Amino acid sequence: MSELKLPTFADVVAASERIAGVAHATPVLTSSTADAELGAEVFFKCENFQRMGAFKFRGGYNALARFTPEQRKAGVVAFSSGNHAQAIALSARLMQIPATIVMPHDAPAAKVAATRGYGAQVVIYDRYTEDREQIGRDLAIKHGLTLIPPYDHADVIAGQGTAAKELFEEVGRLDYVFAPLGGGGLLSGTALATRALSPSAKLFGVEPEAGNDGQQSFRSGSIVHIDTPKTIADGAQTQHLGNITFPIIQRDVDDILTASDEELRAAMRFFAERMKMVVEPTGCLGFAAARAMNAQLQGKRVGIIISGGNIDIARYAELLAQ
Ligand SMILES: *Cc1c(COP(=O)(O)O)cnc(C)c1O
Repeated sequence: MSELKLPTFADVVAASERIAGVAHATPVLTSSTADAELGAEVFFKCENFQRMGAFKFRGGYNALARFTPEQRKAGVVAFSSGNHAQAIALSARLMQIPATIVMPHDAPAAKVAATRGYGAQVVIYDRYTEDREQIGRDLAIKHGLTLIPPYDHADVIAGQGTAAKELFEEVGRLDYVFAPLGGGGLLSGTALATRALSPSAKLFGVEPEAGNDGQQSFRSGSIVHIDTPKTIADGAQTQHLGNITFPIIQRDVDDILTASDEELRAAMRFFAERMKMVVEPTGCLGFAAARAMNAQLQGKRVGIIISGGNIDIARYAELLAQ
């Protein structure tokens, strides 16, 4: 077996230096209504206010900033229909690196337009008949591009960990931390920061109830693969954790929890009504899970990562109205 080198907190610190002045140091917001509801002191780290609308800019930018001159010249390729695509496209534009993004034919027009708007070349594939990883790998080989995956990459993980690092630096130690979980880039990065800066905090990853592969993996001790889950949390529709994210999660995370679509809608409504914030369904996972365990949080200091705010406005209105 090949040696897998896991990123460490030192890599998170290095990432925070690379993204300084480029990524936003997003605000940590509080809500007396949330505090009263949970009987706790709640700190929301608001990555919905990050550049391009989600924490993914941190990992994408950090990964590209580590390219050699040769890699920069040849360019980057990524496959994603969501926030990772925009993160890579924007980071590449800022560093003048050519970017190719492989997106499914049924990706929302707004997301394709946003990715093109950042200057990336978009390659469309048919999600039912073609294999995006194969297309990505073929492009990488043919044009000498470097492939940056959405979560299972040490530089991506280290970049994502900078959000939690900023949270602890701003508010100090916490008793509980909640982070959304898809493929585990955000959660494993958050874990590195938590174990270094607030070691005794209980750290929970939260995934959609319909796709609890992470919970199954965590509890069984090996990576479980599932079919693409049906959930409104489209940023966490991943089918499995990664070979790098899983061992970090196993080592440093206390448990994986789930939230239902109904709980996500209720949390979206809370953020809209009480905090005047647009949060995408996936971004609501942490708060939804914290609300469900309220008695346990009495008198505690609780950190919640709101991971993103990208949602089509008509879809947003529809979900709030349900
Ligand atoms: C990608 C994404 C997630 C999940 O992140 P992973 O690193 O895949 O676990 C959560 N929320 C939002 C908004 C995302 O874009």
